[in-house]
Amino acid sequence: MAMSGDYALRFLQRLHVEVEAHQDELTRLDAAIGDADHGTNLLRGLTAVAEKLPALAGRDAGTILKTAGMTLFSTVGGTSGPLYGTAFIRAGMVFADRPELTTSNVVAAWEAALEGIQARGKAQRGEKTMVDVFAPALDALRAATADGNNLAAAMRAAVAAAEAGMKATIPMQATKGRASYLGERSVGHQDPGATSAHMMVRVMYEVMEAPAV
Ligand code: ADP
Ligand code: MG
Repeated sequence: MAMSGDYALRFLQRLHVEVEAHQDELTRLDAAIGDADHGTNLLRGLTAVAEKLPALAGRDAGTILKTAGMTLFSTVGGTSGPLYGTAFIRAGMVFADRPELTTSNVVAAWEAALEGIQARGKAQRGEKTMVDVFAPALDALRAATADGNNLAAAMRAAVAAAEAGMKATIPMQATKGRASYLGERSVGHQDPGATSAHMMVRVMYEVMEAPAV
């Protein structure tokens, strides 16, 4: 089984590329119900992370994810930076003790990440945030694992649930974050953070499936 350090590096590289490609879309979504900076915020953070990756080659996933999380904390001004930063740091703490990229370690890291996001942001499901993607995707990952699927198949189920969760934010009224200031006017728009969260889950899966170079 592959060590997760190499996986973590490739995940962060690919995530940077994807956010760069979708920066305008994320910012447009945030323009509708926020302050039009979600794409810029994330790209600034992930560009800073990408600059640190060459020096992290060969390191363990715990170190890599914790470094990425702290970098997001210090470079992303918006709400999403500290939330994603906490998620990466918590996941990194799990991988520091359990470095193998196995289904149970991915589930444990994901649980820790989601707990961190919710401890910090206090959002529950249904409040139109990134939690509406990460929570159902984790449920799907757990269910697929319990059914005996391998990690890649379980991750495929997680991506499908993440996409459904992202779309389910459209009819929701935001009750957390900046979008909550709009009250009922937040209804009818897809949440930008749920959109970037779905992108993360998709990239997690795609990097798992891509052959290492
Ligand atoms: P800001 O709102 O400070 O401009 P961003 O635009 O970068 O920050 O991120 C906005 C996203 O952050 C939202 O779309 C939402 O998904 C997420 N978010 C906001 N508040 C919370 C919260 N309390 N818990 C979880 N996610 C949140
Ligand atoms: Mg914003």
